[in-house]
Amino acid sequence: MAIERVVDTSIHEDDSDEKIVEISLRPTTFSEYIGQRRLKTNLKLAIDAAKKRGDVMDHVLLYGPPGLGKTTMAGVIAHEMNANFRATAAPSIEKAGDLASILTNLADGDILFIDEIHRLRRAVEEILYSAMEDYKLDIVIGKGPAARSVKLDLPRFTLIGATTQTGNLAAPLRDRFGHAFRLEYYANNDIRQIIERSAKILDTKIEPAAADLLAQRARLTPRIANRLLKRVRDYADVNGDGIIDTAIAHDALRMLEIDELGLDPADRNMLTLMIEKYGDKPVGLNTIAALTGDEASTIEDYYEPFLMQLGMIQRTPRGRVVTDLAKKHLGLA
Ligand code: ADP
Repeated sequence: MAIERVVDTSIHEDDSDEKIVEISLRPTTFSEYIGQRRLKTNLKLAIDAAKKRGDVMDHVLLYGPPGLGKTTMAGVIAHEMNANFRATAAPSIEKAGDLASILTNLADGDILFIDEIHRLRRAVEEILYSAMEDYKLDIVIGKGPAARSVKLDLPRFTLIGATTQTGNLAAPLRDRFGHAFRLEYYANNDIRQIIERSAKILDTKIEPAAADLLAQRARLTPRIANRLLKRVRDYADVNGDGIIDTAIAHDALRMLEIDELGLDPADRNMLTLMIEKYGDKPVGLNTIAALTGDEASTIEDYYEPFLMQLGMIQRTPRGRVVTDLAKKHLGLA
């Protein structure tokens, strides 16, 4: 059984309350969007250039681990371009016809955001090629001898694709993005600012030292920073007077079993199992998934990137290896 995680970077789809809070915490302008300076500089330039030419921006690919602000940045781009923002996710586009109808319903200048774009089906993806390249829809209607190919003009639009796995993106699709930007893990200081900004929006008092403490444990990821803040706020409401000071923050983090590096029981469980069963030998992704009871893609998207960032796991051609640093951290050296 997979363990339910506070530090999980996915949106809990069944938690509508959480989604509402996420939306209100989501920055809408460049000035509200904290950190990722290089990304912002490059995008601002591209936006200004497009505006000056009076044209749409080139298609943009945003990639990096979940929860770092790809969807948020897509919304910011739309806002800064004064464009309509249409958002969808690859798994919900089942047939070529679904994408055709999304594309034909766009207006000039619209921004189409496709999340998890590496998960587009092949037949759907192929529709995108000519749509991205020359704003044409190339589609076959009917089957067998009656099938005929139809070409339609599309409005000029900008596609923003987000993915956690550029490696799984087909080259013809990747090559059609004029811009490709990697979102980096945030600096601690940026995470602290995000926590302070969110606390203000949520009308919660947090002492600076407590904000520092949460920032250290938020895995350098805004989504986790916001989620930790909300859990600790709940704890402060129930066990104190609602103000988050360091004592409350420490107690709440202890209850949530999140350690000094931001690892939770699921991370520690995975690392411990790998060490106990395989020692220094590389372990394949599917084997790790079988050990923890998670999907391989969950390991790849939600556990591994941060553990690699910390230097606790290394990727080798023959599998993943747990490093001495992880053994030391877990007291298993
Ligand atoms: P991704 O699409 O990469 O999974 P999101 O864009 O959904 O990540 O971001 C997750 C949450 O983190 C957002 O709801 C937003 O509140 C917060 N967030 C992300 N990036 C920033 C940022 N740069 N500044 C402030 N908050 C951010």
